Amino acid sequence: MQPVIYMEHIKKVYRVGQEDLWALRDVSFSVDPGEYVAIMGPSGSGKSTTMHIIGCLDVATEGIYRLDGVDVASLIDDELAHLRNQKVGFVFQSFNLLPRTTAVENVELPLLYAGVPPRVRREWAIEALIRVGLGHRLYHHSNELSGGQQQRVAIARALVGNPSLILADEPTGALDSHSSEEILGIFAELNQEGRTVVMVTHEPDVAHHAKRIISFRDGMVVSDTLSPVTEGRR
Ligand code: ADP
Ligand code: MG
Repeated sequence: MQPVIYMEHIKKVYRVGQEDLWALRDVSFSVDPGEYVAIMGPSGSGKSTTMHIIGCLDVATEGIYRLDGVDVASLIDDELAHLRNQKVGFVFQSFNLLPRTTAVENVELPLLYAGVPPRVRREWAIEALIRVGLGHRLYHHSNELSGGQQQRVAIARALVGNPSLILADEPTGALDSHSSEEILGIFAELNQEGRTVVMVTHEPDVAHHAKRIISFRDGMVVSDTLSPVTEGRR
């Protein structure tokens, strides 16, 4: 089976003033189709940098990264953007929705950029919002929704292009525990449907919803284990 994510000796250095800052020192792991992985670790350990490389928002300084078998280093910017739009749906801690814009319009946005015609856009956006349980909030402005609802809109927006890989960076970081549980329930369902999910969190309780936990420290992977939940089911 070809992994969705294949990272080999990935390094990432940021130049800060005169200094080189090694955000990733040596990261190797792969993720197979259909896995549900949590990346855990303290603040500054390189989790977001790793997610940006996985999602083709940034490129590694050194090492090999293949997304669905495609070596991203061989791509020019336009090709990288195309690969990202085709394969990856992103969810962020801060939702990143347009305010004073309806839920359905927020979800349509990636389809607008992809040149999908208006009627099809609307149909797919409504479908995605129903999928996350927001069929009754289609025409509410995003700023009229609760935090948990806004994150569900963001998940619908990530899903609407039917990506095989969902990347979520601290998706429950801004939510109360009830809303967090709802969001984690949606990720579990998406994974059961066969999508690959990779979620970043610094909270062990959240990480345990995933089936596999990769722990980072100082830009390195320090452990890679099945989550206790998965172990219990074996
Ligand atoms: P995490 O998500 O685990 O908190 P990050 O991947 O955001 O960690 O950051 C890893 C290290 O890289 C940190 O020391 C951070 O300050 C640094 N870093 C992240 N992004 C940048 C950037 N754009 N420019 C400079 N340094 C950065
Ligand atoms: Mg981060």
